[in-house]
Amino acid sequence: MKVMLLGAPGAGKGTVAKLLTALDGSVQISTGDILRAEVRAGSELGKDAKRYMDAGDLVPDSVIMGMMEKRLQEPDCQKGFLLDGFPRTIPQAEELKKLMARINIDLDMVVNIDVPRDVILDRLCTRRTCSNPDCQAIYNVKSNPTKVEGICDKCGSPVIQRDDETEEAISHRLETYNEKTAPLIGFYEKEGKFQNIPCTSSDDVVNAIKEKLGL
Ligand code: ADP
Ligand code: ZN
Repeated sequence: MKVMLLGAPGAGKGTVAKLLTALDGSVQISTGDILRAEVRAGSELGKDAKRYMDAGDLVPDSVIMGMMEKRLQEPDCQKGFLLDGFPRTIPQAEELKKLMARINIDLDMVVNIDVPRDVILDRLCTRRTCSNPDCQAIYNVKSNPTKVEGICDKCGSPVIQRDDETEEAISHRLETYNEKTAPLIGFYEKEGKFQNIPCTSSDDVVNAIKEKLGL
């Protein structure tokens, strides 16, 4: 499947994407994960991106587009992919449209995972992520805690709160979302293939997508 997942930070795009990859071998393409890998690797791109990310600001469109133009042409994308966290701005969406026309990619569906703001806020403040770069399992201190406090169930590494998941950075990320990313909903409504899925749980979102794609 070739599906774009839209939704506020904390809407569950990553969780839904991971569940969908298990269905047909499509790959998850998370711009956030790619950027964090660049930061860890200490690359020029990573150094440049980190200051935006830590502040909860968007990384410049030109950086993201360069990165994604490469990523979408890697062979594993041919089976299908789930765009998670990209595009994030109208200019990115416009550039992506041109890029897809050029490299002959057509999306099956654009999904907006629609989660109420109070749920989002609560989720982000209680989210914890495994610090092991090869694992990155996501937990929630309230709804999905680790078995042993602070230790990843899957790999035994410490689980941490991301630098951009302090209260201040979170409220800034949500403002940025409202201002820059929410307008994509209108953009893709006009483009067609758009589905709004009011979120109950990530499993329900996955089932709704499966049904709409006839899987
Ligand atoms: P979340 O969806 O929880 O906000 P991500 O892991 O998707 O987190 O992204 C983390 C950070 O990486 C963002 O706050 C932003 O700084 C940067 N980022 C990720 N994707 C993009 C994008 N498409 N455009 C600009 N910045 C991005
Ligand atoms: Zn882990």
